[in-house]
Amino acid sequence: MKLVSFLYGNASRVGVLEGDQVRVLPLDRGHDVGSLAQKAAQGAPLSELTAGADATVALADVALLPPVVKPGKIICVGLNYKDHTAESDYQQPDYPTFFLRLTTSLTAHDAPIERPLASDSLDFEGELAVIIGKAGRHIAKESALEHIFGYSVFNDGSVREYQFKSPQWTIGKTFDKTGGFGPAVVTADALPAGAHGLDIQTRLNGEVVQSSNTRYMIHDVVELVAVLSEAITLEPGDVVVAGTPSGIGWARNPRLLMRDGDVCEVTIEGIGTLRNPIVDEARN
Ligand code: MG
Repeated sequence: MKLVSFLYGNASRVGVLEGDQVRVLPLDRGHDVGSLAQKAAQGAPLSELTAGADATVALADVALLPPVVKPGKIICVGLNYKDHTAESDYQQPDYPTFFLRLTTSLTAHDAPIERPLASDSLDFEGELAVIIGKAGRHIAKESALEHIFGYSVFNDGSVREYQFKSPQWTIGKTFDKTGGFGPAVVTADALPAGAHGLDIQTRLNGEVVQSSNTRYMIHDVVELVAVLSEAITLEPGDVVVAGTPSGIGWARNPRLLMRDGDVCEVTIEGIGTLRNPIVDEARN
């Protein structure tokens, strides 16, 4: 099942995506996919949570929102594909490279990824996004998949100049409206366990710039959930962004950076295509 969050009137709502139609779920199911995941984590069966409708609207007629509008946490993973670690001139670390994004960095499907006035070094990173369902701390690998609500597509838009101003990458990874997220969350039951073995591709202006498969993730979804929960209580609607394969623009010669007027798309097999136009930050 594919779930979307979108503006309905002036309010955020959650719906079921069926072909090119969105079935608008009643308000008591939550205002976005994150709050619906929370209700599911409290024990409400997904089949009941996603039954019925206030209305059905054409997908083309609604403005999508990030599927989880304001996640409690957005935890990203760097250096999680060997070929990307190599192109980035890093030694492959044993422990996953975690960093954080803030909610103000998110931008929805079809909404702009913003090239900041501060730098022209905006780069793409197509990635799998994992949406947490059931809360947990000290989650064993054997039960990790029980804590996953679903999966989505992410573009970890990176302002490279700022990423490398200091040893901590965070500031270059959380500029406003640089994190493309969506269009939908596909529930975990509709995908292979751990979203393993899915083709992932990024295109800039139609040209393929990244092409890989989630089977090449060094730390798979099960391991990421287990390792993160050694330190952090994972909660419904939290998002883990699982790392990018090789092909980033910064590692190319000459460099390939995103500019106003570009269109960047990330497709993950069985999940969907996230598309974002690149637009310069407005000058005030
Ligand atoms: Mg990344």
